[in-house]
Amino acid sequence: MQYLAPENTADAVALLSKSKGSVHVLAGGSDLLVRMKGGYVEPDVIVDIKHIKQMNGIKKTADGFIIGAAVSCAKLGEHVALRKAWPGVVEAANLIGSDQIQGRCTIVGNLCNASPAADSVPALIAANAVAVVHGPKGERDVDVAKIGTGPGKTSLKKGEVVESIRLPARSAKSADAYLRFTPRTEMDIAVVSAAVNLTLGAKGVIKDARVSLGAVAPRALLVPAAAKAIIGTTLDDAALAKLASACSAACNPIDDKRGTVAYRTKVAAVLGRRAAESAYARAGGKK
Ligand SMILES: Cc1cc2nc3c(=O)[nH]c(=O)nc-3n(C[C@H](O)[C@H](O)[C@H](O)COP(=O)(O)OP(=O)(O)OC[C@H]3O[C@@H](n4cnc5c(N)ncnc54)[C@H](O)[C@@H]3O)c2cc1C
Repeated sequence: MQYLAPENTADAVALLSKSKGSVHVLAGGSDLLVRMKGGYVEPDVIVDIKHIKQMNGIKKTADGFIIGAAVSCAKLGEHVALRKAWPGVVEAANLIGSDQIQGRCTIVGNLCNASPAADSVPALIAANAVAVVHGPKGERDVDVAKIGTGPGKTSLKKGEVVESIRLPARSAKSADAYLRFTPRTEMDIAVVSAAVNLTLGAKGVIKDARVSLGAVAPRALLVPAAAKAIIGTTLDDAALAKLASACSAACNPIDDKRGTVAYRTKVAAVLGRRAAESAYARAGGKK
């Protein structure tokens, strides 16, 4: 196996493009190394992106935030401005594994590993985040919801690497929240998860919202009907009930020992509702 550690994105793309056989990007390695140790994957080439300068910072710009693909989830939690603007994205990243895992792992690794239960993905979808993808044909912006295409599968093409994630700028009366249900409080993956991102207008009326669910379908879902249920409201009980029904209706989960279809469908409604209440309160809404 060849281990390569380029120092810029262009070199990473060149190496990923020309390498033959089983070629893998390595970020924190908390998924890839586990799969290698388990014998599920035997890379011929590993391209480590942790030494790439463009991928190692968090930048605040007039258009929002740019988070490098090699930035650890722990660093997201330490970034005061990011935490203030996107508390839901940061809380999702800071639920992944443990302190040790978060010291290495990245939200882009979480996204590209394409687990339906990945914690940061519903929060990124609700945030309307964009993945900046570099490849042999240049750079393209991809809606994060379009990166994962099913369990363990992505829309990335040969030679492509995600350089960063872009989060849009926020108005003062905006906030997001992420919640997951796990049977254990630590070191477990979501049986169901929900993220809500919303913006308030005058008198606490919700003028914009996005709702996303995780672990209830082959990939994280955007649920426009759930957002529609609360837009134009002050998150009264009727709006919350409609949001909850829309969340349940969107579910297409698996049935396994961690949760039945009926259970996951019911919990999606509960978490959708609670995440909306949390985001609303964080945005300054009063009930
Ligand atoms: C003990 C333990 C607990 C865990 N708990 C959780 C949890 O609670 N919630 C959760 O969601 N996950 C959990 N995970 C899974 C894992 O930690 C996360 O998915 C993590 O975010 C992966 O990030 P990484 O940087 O380590 O990815 P890596 O392992 O480096 O990469 C993951 C995949 O993404 C690809 N990739 C990485 N970066 C890029 C890029 N820039 N461009 C293109 N492809 C890329 C890699 O090739 C690989 O296929 C856990 C893992 C362990 C070992």
